[in-house]
Amino acid sequence: MATLVTGLQHLAASCKSATDKACILAFATYADRLDTEVTARAITKTVEKHLETMESRIKDATEKLSDATHEIGQSSTKLRDDLLETAEIVKDITVKLQEQTVQTPVIVQAGSYAQAVTSGGAPPLPLSHATTLARAQTRARQFIIDGMVRPQPGDDTLMEEVLLEKGNMALKLMKAPDDVRCKGVRWLANGGLMYEMTTEKGAKWVSAIENRANFIHHYGGDPDMKISGQSFQILVDFTPVHFDPSDSAALEWVEINNNMKEGSILEARWIKPVAYREENQRTALLALYLKTAEEANRALKHGLTICGKLLRPRKNIAEPRRCLKCQMVGARHVAATCRAAQDTCGTCGKTDHNTKACKVKDPAQRHCKNCGVDGHGAWDRTCPYFIQKKAELNARIPDSQYRYFPTADDPTSWETAIGGGKRQTWSAQNRR
Ligand SMILES: [Zn+2]
Ligand SMILES: [Zn+2]
Ligand SMILES: [Zn+2]
Repeated sequence: MATLVTGLQHLAASCKSATDKACILAFATYADRLDTEVTARAITKTVEKHLETMESRIKDATEKLSDATHEIGQSSTKLRDDLLETAEIVKDITVKLQEQTVQTPVIVQAGSYAQAVTSGGAPPLPLSHATTLARAQTRARQFIIDGMVRPQPGDDTLMEEVLLEKGNMALKLMKAPDDVRCKGVRWLANGGLMYEMTTEKGAKWVSAIENRANFIHHYGGDPDMKISGQSFQILVDFTPVHFDPSDSAALEWVEINNNMKEGSILEARWIKPVAYREENQRTALLALYLKTAEEANRALKHGLTICGKLLRPRKNIAEPRRCLKCQMVGARHVAATCRAAQDTCGTCGKTDHNTKACKVKDPAQRHCKNCGVDGHGAWDRTCPYFIQKKAELNARIPDSQYRYFPTADDPTSWETAIGGGKRQTWSAQNRR
């Protein structure tokens, strides 16, 4: 068709008659338009065909898309449900945790020494703390035989080596368990013989009431010998005087009334001889010797009931010695070795009579020789000089830094006694 149009256009160009030329050009234009229409129709047909295919594809795709959208919708719904459910669970757990936190009492975790040292708030532990704990553990492996005659130089029968063998022989004869064995011996300054065992259990076994006498028997000792295990002394102010510390049944009652383990109280005694009591004295200071640091600490923390009376025991804190002749507090001598020329009265401070012979009854006439102040005697534990000497003495004793008896596995027993331990009541009590 395009060739026909070109041919007609050439023919029109060669035509001389204008009318013919116009006619031929008109044919060429018509032919060209016809060609365009035919082509256009063909294109339309092709396009229509393609469109049909595309339409069906788009339809397909749209359907798939719709499906996918539906799926996504479903998934997101599920996801939202899951999230809500999770949120509920989290909320539940949080509430339960909060409930538990409220219900569970605060348990003091057995912390390390480092934790205790670095923890804020509490007073700092003494630098010797680790040593104190180690010493406490060593002491728990020891027992002491009192009433032994200390060896004279040259007496080989009482050499440490021999005594160690003697101790282990006695255990063998007693058929003691295999792990109950002596590790070493040492003579103490006060004349006692200290045995150290390989284990704490060993020391407990020997110093158990039922084994003590048997050990001494197999040890070949005389009845004057006495085994003392480790004990923890606490002082009980204002104990009713009708309590009898020498009565084992009375001690048993104290154990029962205070939920103590049987045999916790090893010994009890009055600090001052009963004969020295004042007339009508109704209470007195009692010393209790407990078997374990735990029982002693429990009594110190929660108090004790004796003869129905609720009492607050305290740890026995070392006190400076006072020379009964010159009245010096913190003296390194006793009356027998005092170099003073004459007695000084502990009540009025005069030097023409001793304390027992003093006639002063009015507290205003008392005079303290140590601090030079009227109104109290040299024996008064509230004397500022006495308090100062006591503080100096206890600063040198590691155990005195603690409010309780420090044990390795109970950090609450590491509380220091700084600012504590001073009681208004105890000075009056100790005068008795
Ligand atoms: Zn003296
Ligand atoms: Zn006097
Ligand atoms: Zn004084």
